[in-house]
Amino acid sequence: QTAMKHARRLGSGHTGVYGEGMDSKTRHLLEMESKLRSALDRQELTIYFQPQLCLGENRITGMETLLRWKHGGKMISPGEFIPVAEETDLILPIGEWVLREAAAKTMRWIDMGLGPLRVAVNLSERQFRAQNLFRIVEQVLIDTRLPPECLELELTESIFVDDPEATRQTLMAFHKLGCKVALDDFGTGYSSMSYLKSFPLDTLKIDRAFVMDLTSDPRDAALCSSMISLAHQLNMDVIAEGVESQEQLIILRAFQCDEIQGYFFSKPLAADKFETFIREHRLKSERAKDDLGFQF
Ligand code: C2E
Ligand code: MG
Ligand code: MG
Ligand code: MG
Repeated sequence: QTAMKHARRLGSGHTGVYGEGMDSKTRHLLEMESKLRSALDRQELTIYFQPQLCLGENRITGMETLLRWKHGGKMISPGEFIPVAEETDLILPIGEWVLREAAAKTMRWIDMGLGPLRVAVNLSERQFRAQNLFRIVEQVLIDTRLPPECLELELTESIFVDDPEATRQTLMAFHKLGCKVALDDFGTGYSSMSYLKSFPLDTLKIDRAFVMDLTSDPRDAALCSSMISLAHQLNMDVIAEGVESQEQLIILRAFQCDEIQGYFFSKPLAADKFETFIREHRLKSERAKDDLGFQF
């Protein structure tokens, strides 16, 4: 990330101090920045939806919005371009577009009778700190008619490290508006856990890292079970991320985990595929009411 700052300060074409390796990395980042700049206009960005399953009711409660960039016949993963978008502040217009697109699509599905549905949108810390975030969210909800309680903002623990008072005020404002707030990648950050008691958080998302070896490592099982009961005692719902097997699902259900998300239930899907998926899942679960063999 700092490679780009160096490159700007030094001007293009500079070589030397950082050596050949660093220079090609810098060039790669600068190239990505300029391509990303036109990605929105060229409609190369698209959003996928990963369904979230309520374990108690076998019902799809909502979905997480995941950004995709189709560029030059390739799919570039968010892990690669989100850091560039954050570094260059391109995350602000891109993030607003994601929010609007996710809200509009969700409201269309609700209008079609596919609700209730709650759509989760990832926000990076840079977006969360932007002065106009609240007004953008409010405006998107008005424009799309999406009820506030159908929108969940996903944030990571990083927002509790700097300026916790500002963080608290922003979260309180969203809470009053009626939006949900989820804490993403829980347990992987470096902040103190004391924020759990003083911030209005609705959902805790257990990171994939703890779910991965859940069935083979009793220590991961202990951590998952404890995180779930902690969240419940603090009045939060729990979603486990990265569930890839039925064995993991069974253990999480036994631990009273509220919802799961992961390849076992479904990969992230393009909008049309997602729509088909919820329709089919609903038909299956209606048919399964008198069929004990139904798995989800
Ligand atoms: P995240 O929010 O923690 O999203 C979960 C990631 O895990 C997604 O990766 C998803 O595709 C992946 N995943 C879901 N189920 C499974 C599974 O069963 N196994 C495995 N191995 N992976 C699974 P993805 O889509 O590549 O996104 C990566 C990260 O990029 C996200 O992590 C999020 O932090 C960020 N991101 C994605 N979209 C946006 C966006 O619109 N805005 C912002 N600011 N960040 C985004
Ligand atoms: Mg997320
Ligand atoms: Mg996550
Ligand atoms: Mg993650």
